Amino acid sequence: MFGFRHWQTMHILVSQSDARPYDGLEHEDSPYNAVNDAGLAKQDQLEGLASWLLAHELSHSWDGKYRRPAELYSKPDYQGPERTSLLWVYEGLNQYLGMLLATRAGFNDAAYMRDLFGTLASDLALTPGRASTPLVDTATQDWVLRGAPSAWSSLRRGQDYYLEGALIWLRADTIIREQSQGRLSLDDFLRSFFGQHDTPPIVVPYTRADVEASLSAICSYDWHTFFEQHIYQVNSQPPTDGLEAAGWRLVYNPAPNNKIFYDYLPGVATYYASASIGLMLEKDGTIYDIVPGTPAYEAGLGPSMKVVAVDGHPYSPEVLTESIAHPPNGKVSLIVSNFDTVQTREILYAGGVRNPHLEPIPGRHDYLSEILASRAPAKH
Ligand SMILES: [Zn+2]
Repeated sequence: MFGFRHWQTMHILVSQSDARPYDGLEHEDSPYNAVNDAGLAKQDQLEGLASWLLAHELSHSWDGKYRRPAELYSKPDYQGPERTSLLWVYEGLNQYLGMLLATRAGFNDAAYMRDLFGTLASDLALTPGRASTPLVDTATQDWVLRGAPSAWSSLRRGQDYYLEGALIWLRADTIIREQSQGRLSLDDFLRSFFGQHDTPPIVVPYTRADVEASLSAICSYDWHTFFEQHIYQVNSQPPTDGLEAAGWRLVYNPAPNNKIFYDYLPGVATYYASASIGLMLEKDGTIYDIVPGTPAYEAGLGPSMKVVAVDGHPYSPEVLTESIAHPPNGKVSLIVSNFDTVQTREILYAGGVRNPHLEPIPGRHDYLSEILASRAPAKH
């Protein structure tokens, strides 16, 4: 993918232990990955961890360590905050690359990745904060957002430069493919900007102008305006233009989404009904977050309440899904605990189960399948 390397020996460090279930730290020649006890052993966990973690930390050797934003690298001193506005390259592009590498190497497949892309696009579309906060602010505020609680994160926005960054770089990839009639792709930019030539582990800093100039050398296009509109200006449009240019559109239907749920991690959402009634739950029924403006929000539900019962039955994911699919009298009736009280909330809803998926756009060239095509050696 990059053509050249920036190490003499690459050691991929992996810890597999529930004592340190999830962590990643990039290094130019020794990326560190921590996974839970079953992280490498279970197929459904490895296919997600490969793209989120293992391939991600590996490609940081090029994107982040060899090439690093000058504003991060050339700090005059350690007074004041880190200057992180270019994390949409350092992490956003790298998120895209980790996903491509894991799929091209055969850890998962295009169908898995389409469900993942659909989930990301849906989550980001259901973010009211898009109407007031440009993506670059989430990068600039990285040092605040990294430790922020989940509550009302769609109003505030989270570290969206990772996942929305990935979708924006998918659009950049399709622009290069369109403009060159399929002769060139983002891989050509990766070779010229991050590969260059073999070196030992060194740092070569860059600016936003360097990124735009290098892209223009591969493909003549107004990259400055492209990034201005997608990253530096408020952009309330759902971030689906890359997927649509790649031949696929976001749809919702009741079929389960195959996206991996990190149900072995504490404090993350494992139940998603964000596109239907508008809530996400942790494993024990605690409300992880509520999307403002949705039926769950209108019913007065909020983060940290805990769902105890659904329509008179003890809470389970299956019982809640059945109620969303067929709400008795048009209402999903919840009993929730809230501090030292127990309360009844009725969610008025008739839209059925809505899980995000991608479906092909008739007549549109399928760039996404080309982008995700396996480059693994044939298995014997
Ligand atoms: Zn990273």
